[in-house]
Amino acid sequence: MTPDFEAQLRSVSLRVTRPRLAVLKALHDHPHVDTETVISLVRVEHPTVSHQAVYDVLRALTDTGLVRRIQPAGVTARYESRVGDNHHHVVCRSCGTIADVDCAVGHSPCLTASDDRGYAVDEAEVVFWGTCPDCSADHTAEDQPAGRT
Ligand SMILES: [Zn+2]
Ligand SMILES: [Zn+2]
Repeated sequence: MTPDFEAQLRSVSLRVTRPRLAVLKALHDHPHVDTETVISLVRVEHPTVSHQAVYDVLRALTDTGLVRRIQPAGVTARYESRVGDNHHHVVCRSCGTIADVDCAVGHSPCLTASDDRGYAVDEAEVVFWGTCPDCSADHTAEDQPAGRT
């Protein structure tokens, strides 16, 4: 089901513009993509939208919480429109693919710090690192002795 992107924009008092709708749709269809990918996805339907316009839209959407920016260490920033459910991510060390992992306990902050040092903790940002199924499969294939049929 496609969410009502116009209603989402209005709910955070953002003007409804074509680039904003296009970015929300791109992120809905393709979660966890980087800025360059968002630009090319938007340009499929709106070839005249500039890089700068997409950067500006991403910043506005991130600032208002409609879009979440994820930046695991050593990986370019990715964006997604699945927000507000405190889910986590698993990242492939090999190809950088990111997948969603549901929150361990279903509500934030998900993990209770053993010692919160007096901070009021409201969120735990958890990144699981590993090898995605595609990369694991590649690896298995490479391990096969050469020349087998
Ligand atoms: Zn991978
Ligand atoms: Zn996600």
